[in-house]
This record gives sequence, C-alpha cells and structure tokens, in this order.
Amino acid sequence: LSPEEFRELGHRLVDWVADYQQRLESFPVRSQVAPGEVASKLPLRPPEEGLHGVKGWDAVLKDLEDVILPGVTHWQSPSFFAYFPANASGPAVLGELLSAGLGVQGMLWSTSPAATELETRVVDWLVDLLGLPEDFRSTSARGGGVIQGTASEATLVAMVAARERVRRYGAPANSEWVAYASTQAHSSVLKAAMLCGVAHGAEDTTHVRLIETNDRYGMRPELLERAILEDLGAGRVPFFVCATVGSTSSGAVDPVRAIGEVMARTPVRSTGGWLHIDAAWAGSALVCPEHRGLLDSMNRVDSFAFNPHKWLLTNFDCNAFFTRDRQALLDALSVTPEYLRNAASASGAVIDYRDWQVPLGRRFRALKLWFVLRHYGAKGLRAHIREHVRLAQCFESWVKEDSRFELVVPRSLSLVCFRLKPLPGEAVKDTDARNRELLERVNASGKVFLTHTVLPSVEGAPARYVLRMAIGAATTEERHVRAAWELLVASVR
Ligand code: PLP
Repeated sequence: LSPEEFRELGHRLVDWVADYQQRLESFPVRSQVAPGEVASKLPLRPPEEGLHGVKGWDAVLKDLEDVILPGVTHWQSPSFFAYFPANASGPAVLGELLSAGLGVQGMLWSTSPAATELETRVVDWLVDLLGLPEDFRSTSARGGGVIQGTASEATLVAMVAARERVRRYGAPANSEWVAYASTQAHSSVLKAAMLCGVAHGAEDTTHVRLIETNDRYGMRPELLERAILEDLGAGRVPFFVCATVGSTSSGAVDPVRAIGEVMARTPVRSTGGWLHIDAAWAGSALVCPEHRGLLDSMNRVDSFAFNPHKWLLTNFDCNAFFTRDRQALLDALSVTPEYLRNAASASGAVIDYRDWQVPLGRRFRALKLWFVLRHYGAKGLRAHIREHVRLAQCFESWVKEDSRFELVVPRSLSLVCFRLKPLPGEAVKDTDARNRELLERVNASGKVFLTHTVLPSVEGAPARYVLRMAIGAATTEERHVRAAWELLVASVR
C-alpha cells in the first residue's frame, strides 16, 4: 500500500472499529458458531494473486462482516460478564495502532530509546497510581518495573529470577527445587514451574505444592509453613512462593503478610527465597486507595504483577511487573551475543528491557499505556473501577434478596460468585446440574455471557459449581447488569 492508499483504507478501518463499538449491543455476546464453521468459509489455500490497490479490499471487509464477525465473542460488549474483563479502550487501541505503525523493536535502549524511556516512566507512574512501595520504582537503588506480555510471563520471569538468586545464595544448581502457591492460584504458576524444569509435568505435586485454603479460598499460611518444613527436612529447596491477590475462580486473596512471615521464620527468606504477588485482575483496583487493604503488607514482597490488559482500559497484551531486585532478573535472563553489544549498554547508563523478559524482541507497548494514563488520568481510572464495584454491589444485593439464589463467597471487588441454592434434600450433583443448565440457557440467549467455576470442598462443605458475574467492560451500565439479573431470574426452571 502506498501512504495514500494506507490513509484511505486506514480511515475506513478506523470507521469500521468506531461503528463496531456502536453496534456492540446488536450482536450475540457469545459467538454462536459451531466448531469448524468459520474455517469452512475460508479458502484452504492461500491466494496466489494479491489485491490490487484499495478497491480489492471491499471483498476483505465483506468477509470480515460475513465470515469473521459471526465467529467473534464480543469481549467489549456491555453484557460480557465472563472470565475477567479484557478492556480495549479507544486510547489504548490508538496506542496499539501507533505501535504497529512505528514498527519498533525495543529490545535494547539503543534500538529505540523512546520505547525504553517511555516504558520506564509509565511503569513508575503506576507505582504512584497503585501506591506501591518506592523500592519498586526504576529510580530506586535496586528495583524497577517493566511491561511483560502476560501475567503468565511475569510469574515465569519471577520464578527464574528466584531460582537464580537462591542458587547465588549457595543452593546447588541441581537442587530439588520447590515452588508454592494456593490450590486457587492460576495454572500459570504450574506452567512456569514446568517451563523452568522445576516441575516434571502437570501432576508433579512434589515440586509445585498447592496449599489448601480457608473457607474464603485464601491460602492457609500454617499449611504453607508445614509444607516448607517438610521439604527442608527432605532436603528439597523451597525457593518461590506465589501469593494470589484476586484469584481467577472467586477473587480470593492470600494473606501476604502472614506468608511473608512464614518465609522469614523458616530459612526460606534468608536463603534468597522469593515472594511473588499475582494480582493479574485485582491489581487494577489498587488505583483506588480504599482497595489497597487487599494487600495487607508489601514489606517482604520481591515482585508484584498485574494486568492493565484486564481491568485498566489497556488492550491485551500489557502486564505491569515490578521487582525490588532487578539484578536477580538480569542474573537469570541476561545473555549477550556480540551482535547486541553497543556503547550505550556498555556504559551502564541505560536499561535494556530484553534482560527483564523471556523473548528478545519487544513491542512498543508503553504507547498504549501512556495514552490510557494521559486520557483518563488517575481520576478517570478510579471512576472506572469504582463504577464496576458499585454495579457488582447492586448485583450482589439482588442475589441476596432472592431466596432461590445464594452468594457462595462474599463479593470480591466487581466479581460476584453465586448460584441457585440447593432445594431441600437435593443431591449436590443435581444442584450443580440445575446451575449448569441455567448458565447454558442464559448464554444461549446471546443476551449475556457469564462463565462458571468449581470451588473446591473446604472445611466439610462439598465442592460447588458456581456462576461468576465478573463486571468490568468499559461500556457496562447499570441497565446491562439489571438486564442480566432479570434474564437469570426469568431463566430459572
Ligand atoms: N493470574 C490470574 C490470577 C489470572 O486471573 C489470570 C487470568 O485470568 C492469569 C494469571 C493469566 O493471565 P495472562 O493471560 O495475562 O497470562
């Protein structure tokens, strides 16, 4: 495309996206296609002839409407209440466009100084916005922040840094390493352990210990302590604990202070062991001072990560990762072939973020975060979070008022876990089945999309199938939440 053709087509596509935002409510929220349906409408072989100029694009845009859109689940729909939100705001989308347009690789400071320096500044802004400790700031003596692609990568990076640090404290390289998280931690903790060779497969509960929780699904620190002592006694090396703040299933929060105390009391901390906080979803709520109590202490935390790409108006991918010990990352991740050597890196005066992450190449992701932070400002971000929490409070109150339903755990921020109550004498499997059918009925209507989880048995109560109402789309208003509730109520059989 020539610049003029790109301009013409680009205007059409920006118009298309703006129109899409206006049409969002006209689509079924969850895509209704059958497996293979989209693929069956796409040619098996690639086109031999390209398009000639802008005109040929009419056919592509037609396919976008006829083939692709029906196969899209509308995550930006105001009636999307599934999983966790994945905000894609206007400023973020434009930042993404700009990033693609500039086509920069920001692996080294010298490969595009602005990519590094803007990133350093925006992650430091997040330290202010979330009220994080000063020693997570890039200008601090030993800490700093960086944008990772995902929370999963953040956990992996923390884990390899942890192992390297414990090794440098004297543990042999061939130690039997053990990582800890709660049973409610995200599966990415196990995956990270598998990737770095700590866990030998997904069933390896010797090297990734998933600690039981209390009835609110937060980790029980006394059980963590017992597991650590057992492992030390068996000659294994505890090196990494991941505490979850806002679990995927139910928004549960692990007791970070108590976990840090366990690590200090046992020799884990004094041998270099690392405490990572996975706050992928809930971390965004820390922009509101009233939610900072979620984290009862940051004193012994080595790294903290959250996803602006979930609930902070910045489209995927954007995970903000902060550490107090950037040297541990560099020790674990820095490899310097000759072709990457340059005077700026050698001077020690610049940051090369390639040494803080798994890949070498990196996109100019700071642009979209910068646009978001400038567009909304701290006030706008707080208002965004507060409105969703308020809407979840409304939903929670409706659940409480209806005797057919129950809250399964107390609301966590904007996530409400609820279900149809068991009928007198009803078997657990039948209550679960009624809830499953209810969920399928409301989702099949196309009017809303909610998802489920199963919360494990705790303290004598059986495992339960639970519906999750996760409020967080930028376009959601009270009327959408009300309509979802009315649909749920009307769909009870
Ligand atoms: N951690 C938690 C608590 C999550 O809820 C999720 C996803 O929902 C993840 C990690 C994984 O996030 P990502 O897709 O950024 O790796």
